[in-house]
Amino acid sequence: MDYTAPPNHPADPAEKGMTPDAILGLYNWTAGTCFRCGDDDFVTPLGAVDTPRGERYELDACGCCILRLEAERRRYALRQGIQYRPGTLGGTAQDGPASMS
Ligand SMILES: [Zn+2]
Repeated sequence: MDYTAPPNHPADPAEKGMTPDAILGLYNWTAGTCFRCGDDDFVTPLGAVDTPRGERYELDACGCCILRLEAERRRYALRQGIQYRPGTLGGTAQDGPASMS
């Protein structure tokens, strides 16, 4: 069976917040394979999983999946009434450039 990737879901314009481009700009990108959808694309590292047997799997996600994960986090934050901070998936944003203007 042919598998057709779903089209990119543009951010809901009714939702206030950062644009997809701005969110993706918070991450570092490198060529790799997305652990969620399997796409070979530009991916950003989200960390690694160590198995009991001592194997280590790096988890990288593509931009499409990052935006979905961020959207889930945003909805969760809105529901919980907590502040939503994009760019923190996998805890990789700390060493990003400081936003000093
Ligand atoms: Zn993906």
